[in-house]
Amino acid sequence: MFNEIIEFVKAQFPGKKFIPLHEPKFIGNEKKYLNDCIDSTFVSSAGEYVTRFEKMMCELTGAKHAVAIVNGTNALHIGLLVSGVKPQEEVITQALTFVATGNAISYCDAIPIFIDVDKSTLGMSPEALIEFLEQNAFVATDGYAYNKNSNKRVAACVPMHTFGFPCDIARLAEICKKWNIALVEDAAESLGSYYKGKHTGTFGKLGVFSFNGNKTITCGGGGALVTNDEEIAKRVKHLTTQAKVQHKWEFNHDQIGYNYRMPNLNAALACAQLEQLRNFVENKRQLAQKYQDFFEGRSITHIKESNNAKSNYWLNAVLLKNKEERNQFLEATNANGVMTRPVWELLNRLSMFEDCQTDGLENSKWLSDRLVNIPSSVRV
Ligand SMILES: *Cc1c(COP(=O)(O)O)cnc(C)c1O
Repeated sequence: MFNEIIEFVKAQFPGKKFIPLHEPKFIGNEKKYLNDCIDSTFVSSAGEYVTRFEKMMCELTGAKHAVAIVNGTNALHIGLLVSGVKPQEEVITQALTFVATGNAISYCDAIPIFIDVDKSTLGMSPEALIEFLEQNAFVATDGYAYNKNSNKRVAACVPMHTFGFPCDIARLAEICKKWNIALVEDAAESLGSYYKGKHTGTFGKLGVFSFNGNKTITCGGGGALVTNDEEIAKRVKHLTTQAKVQHKWEFNHDQIGYNYRMPNLNAALACAQLEQLRNFVENKRQLAQKYQDFFEGRSITHIKESNNAKSNYWLNAVLLKNKEERNQFLEATNANGVMTRPVWELLNRLSMFEDCQTDGLENSKWLSDRLVNIPSSVRV
């Protein structure tokens, strides 16, 4: 039934028996920079590649400051902490996201609230956010938003740019501003994606990126936090380096800190990969166009970037008619050497988050029955 699709995907990756969803490509200065690191003995959390990586992240995103962090999950954790999220406060996010978004909220001892996404962007719906706040929240005399049901402060909002497709981030930023809620962008999947010409991750107080092995570019494991706020950048650097007070030799730490600094080895890899980001994204957008043309007029819909958005097309995604057809598609493709995966289980359906407040999640549920990722690696 899906033979035509399977053959089409295979034709995009000639000479491969098994076609993974997304594999890393090391075709630039990776080995050179890694050798530099080893030769210099600076393989750990001090080294010039870490600062070079941070500078490159500023240049790419246009943010004033970037801090290298061990991975995207921990970058989110720190991002929420410096945004003022306190234990037992609430953080709004989308149900349709990778578990790390919810976990990072839990690391702060905060409580997630899961709201719906838009079908067009796969990211947090501004309408859902407005409706949730108008029905459930009020602004107290301290100027902050509180949840009427729990009387807890709604401290932050974490939209996520699903599969690299920018969500309607400008409108979300406006709503958060109006309600005095800190906007923390989970841009883990959207390095190289822009909304109205502005890089994702730069619309709120801060944004975080991931360089995990399956992302558009990778440094093994890694993350980054970007912000225009110098004070925030300083606090993030301090917290991620064990909260050590700068001194020539003394070991003084002024609060509980974290060992979240990215090692120089990973940063070396990250620099080499960042040099190729533009080409990788171009390459991935060409593949996306081929998929778009192929699926045109067929019963399966290929998800396209929305009007104001330029997507990195990290993972191409298609919509099947219903859950039954989705399962048949997953069976057929995976049995024939073409790796495909359903979207993540909605976070409110995971046992650790099942008591969290949600809105109707109408679109999220609809998408979760139908959405499948198809092979999207850079082709060289
Ligand atoms: C990958 C990812 C993360 C976590 O990044 P790691 O570097 O793997 O810790 C967080 N959020 C989303 C949406 C992701 O896709």
